[in-house]
Amino acid sequence: MSRIAYVNGQYRDMRDAGVNIEDRGYQFSDGVYEVCEIRGGKIVDMPRHLARLQRSLHELRIAMPMPQAALEVVIHETVRRNRVTYGIVYLQITRGVARRDHAFPTKPVKPAVVVTARGLNYQKNQETAARGIGVITIPENRWPRVDIKSVSLLPNVLAKQQARDNGAYEAWFVDGEGHVTEGSSSNAWIVTKDGRVVTRSAESGILAGVTRAVLTELLAALQIRLEERPFTPAEAYEAAEAFVTASSQIVMPVVRIDGRPIGTGTPGAITTRLREEFHRFSNFS
Ligand code: PMP
Repeated sequence: MSRIAYVNGQYRDMRDAGVNIEDRGYQFSDGVYEVCEIRGGKIVDMPRHLARLQRSLHELRIAMPMPQAALEVVIHETVRRNRVTYGIVYLQITRGVARRDHAFPTKPVKPAVVVTARGLNYQKNQETAARGIGVITIPENRWPRVDIKSVSLLPNVLAKQQARDNGAYEAWFVDGEGHVTEGSSSNAWIVTKDGRVVTRSAESGILAGVTRAVLTELLAALQIRLEERPFTPAEAYEAAEAFVTASSQIVMPVVRIDGRPIGTGTPGAITTRLREEFHRFSNFS
């Protein structure tokens, strides 16, 4: 079955779908995106993702291209047309098409919208989670506005490739003060030996992950102590457990950081429980 993409008002076969070469997303990475998990054919936590999308657009002064209800219809329709039951839906909005000039177009242009959906291999993801992943740490080199979910991801792309080149799955950025900020496409967490869960505050240095937000609610319900504070790679090496969160992988155990085994070198008990119970506080639509 060929895949279908929503592109600026039309559902197109992906082989024929394209965007204008003067799309500012293509030329300047002048746009934002969201990725939602699909489970049982439903979108997980769409209201939170769309709220973050609205915020990202607002911060970049890009207009919302259609009412939120219409965008929800497009997302559902794209998932339906691609018959995805487990996977991800990708949504991208750029400032639009205009003659190339760094400044915003003087005459307002319509933002460009693309939505795609694809299936992921559930079994394979479960197997990865059962093994756990390796992480490397690298110096933070991104702009300070990482709170905006912009398609400008070059440092993240290079970081992920560096992880792959080193036999790891994810790279954690470490800021000038020696603290972990987040992963190239995930938020970073550790569990201390006395069972406290630690992650950096969303106030600076990270994207406010939707998975992160849902997990904080689960932690409260399970009466597991959460500390929102920075931590160093050295503290992470000594942690009992570590994990990353992202919509496409929910809670993913980390078993190695910079080649050092974390805890027993296998996915931790708290991490595993959080993964199993993760969707208790998710919204399905
Ligand atoms: N940080 C970065 C840099 C990311 O790319 C992602 C995944 N999009 C996250 C954190 C996690 O965000 P979420 O839980 O909303 O997927």
